[in-house]
Amino acid sequence: MLKVVALPVWFTALALAAQPPLPPAPAGYDAELWRRAWQLHHSALVVDTHSDTTTRILDEGFDIGPRATSGHMDLVRIGEGGLDAQFYSIYVAAKYYGEETFERRRGERGTPNGSARRALAMIDGLLRSVARYPEKMVLCTTVADVERAQREGRHAALMGIEGGHAIEGELALLRMFHVLGVRYMTLTHTNHNEFADSCAETPPRWNGLNELGERVVLEMNRLGMIVDVSHVSDATFAAVLRVTRAPVICSHSSCRALCGHARNVTDDMLRALGKNGGVCQINFNCGFVDDDYNKRGEPRRAQVALHRKAIDEKFTEGSKEWREAIEALDRRFPLPEPPPLARLIAHFLHAIRVAGVDHVGIGSDFDGVPCVPRGIDDVTQLPRITYELLRAGIDEAGVRKVLGGNLLRVMRRVEEVAASLAKEPPR
Ligand SMILES: [Zn+2]
Repeated sequence: MLKVVALPVWFTALALAAQPPLPPAPAGYDAELWRRAWQLHHSALVVDTHSDTTTRILDEGFDIGPRATSGHMDLVRIGEGGLDAQFYSIYVAAKYYGEETFERRRGERGTPNGSARRALAMIDGLLRSVARYPEKMVLCTTVADVERAQREGRHAALMGIEGGHAIEGELALLRMFHVLGVRYMTLTHTNHNEFADSCAETPPRWNGLNELGERVVLEMNRLGMIVDVSHVSDATFAAVLRVTRAPVICSHSSCRALCGHARNVTDDMLRALGKNGGVCQINFNCGFVDDDYNKRGEPRRAQVALHRKAIDEKFTEGSKEWREAIEALDRRFPLPEPPPLARLIAHFLHAIRVAGVDHVGIGSDFDGVPCVPRGIDDVTQLPRITYELLRAGIDEAGVRKVLGGNLLRVMRRVEEVAASLAKEPPR
């Protein structure tokens, strides 16, 4: 039943003005349910916890303002897709990782470490974009900031570090990134680092977290920075849940029961996240949602790996020549056909079944993945997720939670835990 709540006239006018006009229902969609989904989506506070748009901003000089013909998002399409808040990834690739400090302590020469510098450049890239469009977007660091931005009709930009090597093994750097506004950190990327193991490297180095890793988690709790366990090994995941005093998130991971990739979480991990009060933010990457897609891509992968090595040797990664060579390679060996949107929706529904509707959200990985399912081609199509969740029988309150309510609850709880620990000295 529809609840009628009396609202001031100006508020209603504002809300209606902020809602883009209803586009025609996509082929095969029920027109009435689509109308309901559209209204629900654009009145909900929608949060995505992972996009790699910052990499485009930094490496390609990407302008986030006007509508772009490539990539998954820009401010125009973000408005159309009703995306209120985005955690922009401060992504530090494994190649920046070095262990200067560790090796120097052992009296060795050490590998130059470019991790913190890269993270700072990423932050600068995002802050420059925010400064360029102050009436359209705003940097947010608290739940209150995000809610205010939504009321003002401005897109909320938040920052999460991806790759714990960004802090170069120093709690001082972790604290400085918090000062700069970073509000989550993915403890690893594809590499083991000074304090935690990744799911992408064998053999394990620490079998989870070492003593420094435990201090990193506790210091993040004290600061009010969300601990992100996407990308970490299963042992690291378990260690974090033992140590943390606040809820944690998987900022961009899907379900291993439906797609066997190590980046995804098992049902036991989903239940553990539920118990912790955390949330699993479902990743859209074709390779994380569909085993069949990965199987179809196997012959291509072998070919591409061979040519890729030659390109990497010939050109500097990220340079214009390098990008052109990679694009030519993609044209020569095209990616397999993407799976349909239904494959992605299955992950949302599975996670809701196993962890509960309070522990699932959106972590698209837009602008960071080579393929997304057909029907969710860019940020403008986010309302289709709302439609599909309603169609699957999730009630409106539940859909609002998945769209962003759950993540904001975690963030609020992390803020409360930090406030309760305010008297503890820094580690
Ligand atoms: Zn990632």
